[in-house]
Amino acid sequence: MDALFENYETLLARVSARCEEIESVLSGHMACRKGCGGCCLNISLFPVEALRLRLAFDTLEEDRTAFALAQAATSSDEGPCPLLDETGACLLYAHRPLICRTHGLPILFDDGQGNRRVDFCPENFQALESLSGEVMLDLDPMNQMLAAVNAMFCKALFGDTPPFERLSIAETLSLELE
Ligand code: SF4
Repeated sequence: MDALFENYETLLARVSARCEEIESVLSGHMACRKGCGGCCLNISLFPVEALRLRLAFDTLEEDRTAFALAQAATSSDEGPCPLLDETGACLLYAHRPLICRTHGLPILFDDGQGNRRVDFCPENFQALESLSGEVMLDLDPMNQMLAAVNAMFCKALFGDTPPFERLSIAETLSLELE
């Protein structure tokens, strides 16, 4: 099973390394800290992300899985992530999906109308008048790589018909594994 996730784990490591590089430059201007789950919503995941997270979920203590499943049962699409614990920390931080690794950092993306936009947590960078392009994380190539990794994963595991296109984190935690 581990070999199936090799490309995904490699991509996670590359994105994490880039995020850490940016964070090392900007950390003095960031309010991000353990316990702030402001960015943590019940996002949707590709099959490769969902199944990796679901397998990691099985490594948690029983009371933690029960806690997260109870939160998942009442979660909504726009609501908080069910993996946030009572202190606002992520129960599966080491296994968090790719987009979670970018939380708080300045991201650059196409808004779907051909415009390049920048976004970041409003609590960050308040004393800065501008941000250099060198400290921005370009989401579009990252998402393209993730889509390609997911397509290869689905082909290898499911052939031509993956059982779902995307699942929310709440749906992922409740997924029955065969
Ligand atoms: S998986 Fe963890 S880091 Fe990602 S949204 Fe949920 S609580 Fe936040």
